[in-house]
Amino acid sequence: MNDFLLVYDGFDPAEEGLREALTSTGNGYFCTRGTAEWEDADDTHYPGTYAHGVYNRETTIMGGRPVPNEDLVNLPNWLALKLRIEGEEPFRLGNVELLAYRHEYDARSALVIRELRFRDRAGRETRLSSRRFASMDRMHQAAIVWQLEPENWSGRVEVVSALDGRVLNRGVARYRQLEGRHLDPQGPRIYGADVIALKTRTRQSRIEVAEAARTRVYRGDEELAVARSTYQTEDYIQQVLAFDVHAGAPVRVEKIAALYTSRDRAISEPLQNAAKSVARYRTFDEAYVGHARAWDELWEVCDVRLPREERVQFRLRLHISHVLQVCSRLTAHHDAGVPARGLNGEAYRGHVFWDELYVYPFLNLRLPLITRGLILYRYRRIAEARAAAREAGYQGAMYPWQAGSDGQEEAQVVHLNPLSGRWEPDLSRNQRHVNAAIFYTVWRYHQATNDLDFLRDCGAEMMLEIARFWSSIAHFNRERDRWEIHGVMGPDEFHEKYPGAAEGGLRNNAYTNVMVAWICETAQKGLDLLPASRRRALRARIGLTDEELGRWEEMSRKMFVPFHGDGIISQFEGYEDLEELDWDAYRAKYGNIQRLDRILRAEGDDPNRYKLAKQADTVMLFFLFPDYELRRLFERLGYDYTPDTARKTIDYYDRRTSHGSTLSFVVHAGVLAGIDPESSWERFLVALESDIGDIQGGTTPEGIHMGVMSGTLDVIQRIYLGTEIRDGVLYFEPRLPDRLDGLSLPLQFRGTPLTVTLEGSELTVVALSDGLSASVRVGVGDEVRELASGDRCTFTVAARAGAI
Ligand code: BGC
Repeated sequence: MNDFLLVYDGFDPAEEGLREALTSTGNGYFCTRGTAEWEDADDTHYPGTYAHGVYNRETTIMGGRPVPNEDLVNLPNWLALKLRIEGEEPFRLGNVELLAYRHEYDARSALVIRELRFRDRAGRETRLSSRRFASMDRMHQAAIVWQLEPENWSGRVEVVSALDGRVLNRGVARYRQLEGRHLDPQGPRIYGADVIALKTRTRQSRIEVAEAARTRVYRGDEELAVARSTYQTEDYIQQVLAFDVHAGAPVRVEKIAALYTSRDRAISEPLQNAAKSVARYRTFDEAYVGHARAWDELWEVCDVRLPREERVQFRLRLHISHVLQVCSRLTAHHDAGVPARGLNGEAYRGHVFWDELYVYPFLNLRLPLITRGLILYRYRRIAEARAAAREAGYQGAMYPWQAGSDGQEEAQVVHLNPLSGRWEPDLSRNQRHVNAAIFYTVWRYHQATNDLDFLRDCGAEMMLEIARFWSSIAHFNRERDRWEIHGVMGPDEFHEKYPGAAEGGLRNNAYTNVMVAWICETAQKGLDLLPASRRRALRARIGLTDEELGRWEEMSRKMFVPFHGDGIISQFEGYEDLEELDWDAYRAKYGNIQRLDRILRAEGDDPNRYKLAKQADTVMLFFLFPDYELRRLFERLGYDYTPDTARKTIDYYDRRTSHGSTLSFVVHAGVLAGIDPESSWERFLVALESDIGDIQGGTTPEGIHMGVMSGTLDVIQRIYLGTEIRDGVLYFEPRLPDRLDGLSLPLQFRGTPLTVTLEGSELTVVALSDGLSASVRVGVGDEVRELASGDRCTFTVAARAGAI
């Protein structure tokens, strides 16, 4: 088994959308779905290309109401490559008899492969093999090569190579009522004999997007003379290459493309730069060598090796490959956040949610420069977050639940329930916990890298302004002698408000309140790490007073956390008064009940009435913090945290969670690792299957789930291997499920490359000998060792999980 290769044998129209999402090729700057080059958008195929940050806002009038919406724009289709044999209609999968068909994705270099043989209506049999990639080496470059072989005929063919700007955002059926036209044509161009180019501009955000392509035909090393003719309209350009082919004599068609936008750095003007680049690009093979080397470089620091579990191994590599397609070294140089659904489709309109919380832990210990670049996306939008806080009557920075271009709130106010066909109010913007997630990611990045420059220049300011927001949204309840937060919701999107309430929001979401207690304590730690002069300057600039710091200190000790029953942490205040749902009845009636919200609403009922959760909410706490840290937090707050608080609380919510978000399986796999390793492994396997198996029945064709893909990697690295950074030491506390014999992976800790191998009860850490790196400290339990470049140490560990 090649554990990098995803293989689909045979063509299946019903599965094509899923395959297109899973066989995308991307380089962290742009990404193109795995649609066959010869197909246009229809009910089966959807050629989508998306680049970080290319958003556009349009307003749709629905029922007389203006609904503004910002989309990640589907860019002109650079793939378009069609084959016409003897002047007949272009070949498509639907108009020939397929004799053989294979569609593959090589995760090692995000290479999309199709191998097929077909017989057309005239009985001609033809072999066509296609390969393509978006270059990890040259950010703007993409390339396609076809190997074309007439098997039983000779004759004249025409290859139509186009750049198609007549595209719309139509990839997600339930958004189709929203305006999907985002591009204004700016005209086609021809450069020399063989370069075509097309420029478009997003209608509202006025981002220019230029594509150029050069298509050539070769027999062996020799370029064939072809007859070229061009056709163009303002939003489309094609060149037709006509030439003779002979039975048994393969020819190669190479289309090399460039994509630039006016958001790029180091350019003059996108069209000019696209055309100039394309003219310089050499052959497909040469471009591929550079591309494959750049991927090798990534694998060197990103791989995870499991000795036994081939199936798991393959899925992890698929996930690594997709995470890197969206967030690569190239991304770090851009103004890019993490779109929750990758750059692989139009679900969630390309918006950035809190999912980075799941993405960064893996990257922090591999390629922290990527995390740094992505966090800067947030930092650049701090002014918008400050304005949002002010407009809502708060202070500090209030980041939006959904972000896009400039960091304003992009969450919709209504959403379509596909089960009922009704537009329902969307209160999800009350998920202020995204602000806790951003704070958390800044701090964890700092711990992994000790990047004090970053903390000094951006990180601390974000931390302080977020802490300030929380302190302004909180109020003091004298009777309780506690700080409280009302009017927000936690990650569980099934609970937006109290049953029957007119207003959205809940009182004292436990996850939020505990995070806030931690934030209020940690903000001060961040401040203390700054050099005195910087601390003074920053405090002066943002006007941070001693009184505020005092209030944060108090909040870190006095946030209110609701409990019910026998020491169960309540998801929010009043949770215990909700009704129990008859889970068995719903399962029996509907089978898959992951989206109970849609089911209940379609029945005229309301999920807010019940003790149920879409996803981990309170349980998030046990995922984000090690048990000893949570105990410390609760004790500091003056609450009992008994040895079985975790077990009881996790078990309670586990039985009441429908896992309507794929993130939930990751979290439950994580928190169960130390309690019930077998269940943890089961959940982990479901998480691994989420996208490849499209377990939500139709969501993956609309875009991969970045959170679950990186979450599975996080579970391996942070939970099963048990990595944790404390006081500048990288600790390991393995909790391997039975199915894992051991594992081995490269890490990078504070600039030092390491390899870590767990075999039986031996955990070996090697600091790669690179002559330059500083020494780092690694530890297991109380045993801490210092490793200089080239050193190795072995710890004896209990690899299996013990109960908490
Ligand atoms: C989840 C959110 C998540 C979003 C984007 C939703 O279904 O409930 O937690 O941020 O998807 O992935």
